[in-house]
Amino acid sequence: MCTEKPAACVALASSCPSMHLLETLPYALIVLDKTATILYANAKATTMVGGSKHELAGSVLWQSAPHLVTTTLYQAVITALRTCQPLEVEYHVPDLQAWLHVHVSPISEGVAVFFFEDTQSMRLQGALRQSERKYEDLLESISDRVAILTPDGLVLDINQRPLRDAQVQREEVVGTPFAETPWWSYDRAAQAQLCRAVAQASGGETVHFEARIRPQEGWYLDLAVTMTPHLDANRHVEYLIYTGLDITARKRAEAETHALIDALPQLVWTGRPDGYIDSYSQSWCDYTGMTIQQAQGEGWMLCTHPDDQQRVLAVWQHAVQTGRPYETEQRLRHGTTGAYRWFLMQAMPLRDAQSTVLKYVGTCTDIEDRKRAEQQLKESEVHWHVLAETMPQIVWIGEPGGSKEYFNQRWFDYTHATFEHMRGAGWLQFLHPDDHERTLALGRHALVTGEPYEIENRFKEGKTGTYRWFLSRALPMRDETGQIVKWFGTCTDIDNQKRVEEALRESQERVSALMNSSIIGITVLEGEQIVDANDTFLRMTGYTHEDLRTGRMNWMCMTAPEYLARTQQAHRELATQQSMTPYEKEYVCKDGSRLPVLVGGVVLQHHSCQNITFVLDNSARKELEQRKDDFISMASHELRNPLTALKMQTQLVRKRLEKHSQHEAATALARVEGPVKQLERLIRELLDVSKIQAGRLEYLQETVDLEALLHEVADTMQQLHTTHTMVMRGTAPCSLVGDKDRLGQVFTNLLSNAIKYSPGAETVEMDLSAFAETVTIRVQDHGLGIPREQRDKIFERFYRAAGPRQRAIPGLGMGLYIVAEIVKHHGGTITVESEVGKGSTFTVTLPMRREA
Ligand code: ADP
Repeated sequence: MCTEKPAACVALASSCPSMHLLETLPYALIVLDKTATILYANAKATTMVGGSKHELAGSVLWQSAPHLVTTTLYQAVITALRTCQPLEVEYHVPDLQAWLHVHVSPISEGVAVFFFEDTQSMRLQGALRQSERKYEDLLESISDRVAILTPDGLVLDINQRPLRDAQVQREEVVGTPFAETPWWSYDRAAQAQLCRAVAQASGGETVHFEARIRPQEGWYLDLAVTMTPHLDANRHVEYLIYTGLDITARKRAEAETHALIDALPQLVWTGRPDGYIDSYSQSWCDYTGMTIQQAQGEGWMLCTHPDDQQRVLAVWQHAVQTGRPYETEQRLRHGTTGAYRWFLMQAMPLRDAQSTVLKYVGTCTDIEDRKRAEQQLKESEVHWHVLAETMPQIVWIGEPGGSKEYFNQRWFDYTHATFEHMRGAGWLQFLHPDDHERTLALGRHALVTGEPYEIENRFKEGKTGTYRWFLSRALPMRDETGQIVKWFGTCTDIDNQKRVEEALRESQERVSALMNSSIIGITVLEGEQIVDANDTFLRMTGYTHEDLRTGRMNWMCMTAPEYLARTQQAHRELATQQSMTPYEKEYVCKDGSRLPVLVGGVVLQHHSCQNITFVLDNSARKELEQRKDDFISMASHELRNPLTALKMQTQLVRKRLEKHSQHEAATALARVEGPVKQLERLIRELLDVSKIQAGRLEYLQETVDLEALLHEVADTMQQLHTTHTMVMRGTAPCSLVGDKDRLGQVFTNLLSNAIKYSPGAETVEMDLSAFAETVTIRVQDHGLGIPREQRDKIFERFYRAAGPRQRAIPGLGMGLYIVAEIVKHHGGTITVESEVGKGSTFTVTLPMRREA
């Protein structure tokens, strides 16, 4: 048969003169270029294909002759074009219901394809036909959609199933791009998906993908598509095998599952048995901001916290390998905020009847709040421990049953013991034996009732073995059900406080003993008000507690008017020096009677606005003094009269004796007159003192020539005392108004003392100097001198200096008292300067021309 198709014919195919010959050939001839474009088809071919010559020329064989196209033909043409070797094939043309014998011969432009209607081949190559039929039957019998495509994606063959779906004829699709067929052309995305798969498969790769096709208007099918390249012996891709498995039912089930999953509050995902995560709920996508496609496989790692990734992946892989449920905690990033939240990831494997894992269904539960609470608890526990260790107190924790499980370092530092020593009730050995019973009783009571407790007890210091006082407190900690989970205890060292308390108590006792003293009256003053007073003071003054409480006790009002000035002075002293020198005064009692008192006082240290005064009832002493004064006054009066009588009688007798020239007897009597004068002076002084005391000393008002008076006094003294020379210095004609005799008494007294207290000296000086307003008289001696501490006291009544040499000199301590009183009455002052062993100078200053 091959000989009936001579090579010359092939050459003629491109030669116009031979065209007629080719037209008359009894078999169909189609000449193709290298791209399978028809260059020429003879009359027989035109008839077989069913188009006009004109239509066929220039069109691609696969598109213009779908009746003839099969995979076998395609393979043969492609192979001949590539190898430039002639070859023959036989195949069944379903549309023609005929077997064709095809001879493909390479020519310079491409190939010449000769189609012979084959009647014998059935006989000759029955086996081959049988196999072709089987291929066709197989193709038709499988429920999958199957198509054979050129590497460019043109349909070479297709089984009936998809044709039926779309209700199209095979020839309508064979030779056309598969992407343009009714199944795919409805949607650009679907087309693009197919074209990508064709391109990948043409590169030698098997491609799997899921797609949705539309065989007819309003009817969609979900397919799991596999595109497998068929390779020739040289591993060139000859054609592509497309299979589409109907997964519509599964997809629907999945969609339903998704709807269910999306309705769940948790984030849900599903995984394949091999661990590939294949779907996520909408809530998961919403949270992570990722699409299902992005997150599939291990894409979910992108929103997993970097620190968790390795761990989580390992746990998941282990779950998948062992087929066990999966559970872990991890942080997932929020798509919008970028913040991570903690999730509990759980997945259960779904198994079939044979216990084969079909799928994993997983959930992600937001546990951020719980985690945070856990973290806070952890932190608070850390804080608590730090706190317990830094606290100045001893801290312990006990179990609900009472045994101690923790002591802070301070306890061990204090007891010098180890935790081992504390096992059981080991801590008890440090508790003072006297405190055991009540401490344990309180502890037992607390365990039974769950009440907190507080007790003061003593614990032994390990180093010194001494006990210190502690304030021990214990508090139960309860869980949310109210159950006691722990006891927290503290022991605060109150030893110093205890000691202070003890000292305070003792001092309070002393104060209250003082306050309750029946001898000393005590008052607390605030301004002029007496705000507190002891019973003794109230008893002394006749006031009551009620008077005190109602503020009716005011020391100004209670002070006798003549003591007001002295009292105010004492209070000024108190304010400036914080204490007052005790002074005498009189209170006016509630009943109006007078109470002589001795008062001293201090400022209260912590209340500077408050003073405390101590009041001694002076009435007994005052009464005694009064009696003494009365006695002196009385005695001096009583003595004066007989003494005056004695003096006059003596003078009279002496004068008579002199008259009768009884000189011896007169001289003896004259000797009596001296002591009598001395006695008279003493009694006069006593009387003066009594009068001063009673405020009844009388003074004359006369103009006194002071200079003359001083000379007069000095002269008299010189006549009486020959042991000393009176030196009178200074002349100042000055006069003043006063009592001449009393002023004379002042200087007589000063000169008398100067002589008396300078036994070894030869002179006594008196110095007069006058100033504009005043006159100053100094009386100076070179005698014993007066010790400093006694200088102020010598002007007091009956005071005499204490030294043995002074004591040896007779005197009663009245002279200077009277002198000071007279000077004071004349508006003057008297001061003394002295040095022991060297002498003294008394200075009297008097105002001149003083009008009384
Ligand atoms: P008396 O009678 O004791 O002299 P006075 O009142 O005159 O009493 O004096 C009081 C005291 O002052 C004396 O006892 C004496 O100790 C002291 N005194 C007075 N004048 C002098 C003096 N010139 N020199 C030393 N001591 C003096």
